[in-house]
Amino acid sequence: MHCDILTIFPSLFASVLNQSILLKAQEKGLFSYQVHNIRDYTKDKHRQVDDAPYGGGPGMVFKPEPVFAAVEAVLAQRPVERIILLSPQGELFDQKKAKDLAACANLLLICGRYEGVDERVAQHLATEEISIGDYVLNGGELPALILLEAAVRLIPGVLGDDQSAAEDSFYHGLLDYPHYTRPANFRGMEVPQVLMGGNHEQIQLFRRYQALKRTWLRRPELLGKCLLNEEDREMLARIQGENK
Ligand code: SAM
Repeated sequence: MHCDILTIFPSLFASVLNQSILLKAQEKGLFSYQVHNIRDYTKDKHRQVDDAPYGGGPGMVFKPEPVFAAVEAVLAQRPVERIILLSPQGELFDQKKAKDLAACANLLLICGRYEGVDERVAQHLATEEISIGDYVLNGGELPALILLEAAVRLIPGVLGDDQSAAEDSFYHGLLDYPHYTRPANFRGMEVPQVLMGGNHEQIQLFRRYQALKRTWLRRPELLGKCLLNEEDREMLARIQGENK
């Protein structure tokens, strides 16, 4: 995947994208990115990207000209499948959207600022708007990083063990089961015996039960959206009986 990022704060990206798994993804040739400063696409000597809102009101609005010019400059270099405007008014980001993004060869992310971006960008330039949650941040840079971190780890070959993404929360609809490591007894808090017995069937059963239980207790609405087999349904009935 290649991602072009449009922002007025280009320095915010390297410290996150050039570390750990995202850096390894670049070294393996599975991910690359280029940050473009939207101010470079202004034509006035003050490199102004904002202006007062038509109709009055507080704050400033991101001007359309430099955003259109920056996107057109990227499109002149390479085709882009999706042009995403980060916006609190967009569709909510989730694991399914992360999986869809992971399958894209070329993405372009537009990070807004101020009171928001001139509406003509959403209407006539972006292919979609995505929100990371029902709260308002100062800019689209952190949302862009969240989209990338969630998507790039799902590109096959990025994680050491591809199965680890498949076992994460939300991947198949349930929350993840609880994890433990050494020591077996830490300040009197013990690791469940079944995990140390070496019986893989029992361990799988225990983990599935725990994943179902957590999902039922913490996010019951998720259960309606995931595929449960007969054994799952029996366990769930037991869990519901025990946690009335
Ligand atoms: N006035 C806008 C509104 O209420 O919808 C909020 C503008 S916000 C201060 C400035 C920029 O931050 C937005 O254009 C967007 O790019 C980004 N942003 C803020 N919150 C976001 C969220 N929850 N998800 C995605 N982007 C967000």
